[in-house]
Amino acid sequence: MRLTRIESFVTRDVGFVRVTAETGAIGWGQVSTYQSDITAEVLHRQVAPWAMGADISMETGDLGDLTDLVTEREHKFPGSYLRRALGGLDTAVWDLRGRVAGQPVAALLGGSAGPVRAYASSMKRDITPENETLRMQRLADAHGFTAFKVRAGAEVGRGRDEWPGRTEAIIPAMRRALPEADLLIDGNSCYAPEQAIAVGRMLEDHGFCHFEEPCPYWEYEQTRAVAEALEIDVTGGEQDCELQNWRRMIDMRAVDVAQPDILYLGGIARTLRVCRMAEAAAMPVTPHCANLSMVTLFTMHLLRAIPNAGPYLEFSIEGADYYPWQEGLFRASPYAVEDGQARVTEAPGWGVEICPDWLARSQYRVSEAADFA
Ligand SMILES: [Mg+2]
Repeated sequence: MRLTRIESFVTRDVGFVRVTAETGAIGWGQVSTYQSDITAEVLHRQVAPWAMGADISMETGDLGDLTDLVTEREHKFPGSYLRRALGGLDTAVWDLRGRVAGQPVAALLGGSAGPVRAYASSMKRDITPENETLRMQRLADAHGFTAFKVRAGAEVGRGRDEWPGRTEAIIPAMRRALPEADLLIDGNSCYAPEQAIAVGRMLEDHGFCHFEEPCPYWEYEQTRAVAEALEIDVTGGEQDCELQNWRRMIDMRAVDVAQPDILYLGGIARTLRVCRMAEAAAMPVTPHCANLSMVTLFTMHLLRAIPNAGPYLEFSIEGADYYPWQEGLFRASPYAVEDGQARVTEAPGWGVEICPDWLARSQYRVSEAADFA
């Protein structure tokens, strides 16, 4: 089954991809959020020429090999954009395969439909500890969340806090507000190792279980020094989109928990490689998926399939004030959380439909086999 058409529907913030096979079968995927219009340009200019005509069937197609071929042909362009564009192709092909087979992608990956425990993930730092704990308690009451993530320090903050004392206040406040919950925190590359270890001790004193990206994420030795000094799980990897960097990070045990982002990394086939590297090192995988575009849905299917899935799904709690572009993407939201759990349904593929009104307002582009003949 050969790939004959790649279409993109984008805004600056988010972009969907539709692939069509020679049989007329179609599938929907997504390039990563943010600068998605630029990513779509890369998809049509640097991915489509090598992918057009490729065998994309579940039985005989090899998506890992296809993504390797694209990265080899475009070897002058390492880094993020090409991988973000590959993520759009890969995830659309998985949806097509699921639709053809009449099965959810989770089943094609060796898993099944069913629940996924979610943690309520805050993206905000400009919120006071009082207001943050209040909204977390409300979410616990309304949706049954039992795990929560808040933010420490300033984002890539060179050791500074969002305002003085915020981190020291929010750590005990979260524990007081949610005495039984699993508590996670994200440093977003804020700290030098010594400061990260001091924050980590405070987290341990209050029973936090997950300390994400404590040091500048590209400084693997710094992150490893923190992981070695602390009992709490040090986690990271969301920005890492090159497989050789993942190999290094896992071999040196820079982190205790791997957090690939399916769309930053280039799709399911490439993410499965990271999951297998982590599995061989007995390392759990708790992917990064920080918004309610399709990436959280992709992550739900993946977590239902891999043997080393971490204990929960990242589930953004931010709404229209923070992510206005998230509104109206889907015909019906796939993101209901009940009893603290999201759910992968039996619907074929990813099991979601993009809203026709949203598509009609987006920028459209198409590449077809004839363009490259
Ligand atoms: Mg993070």
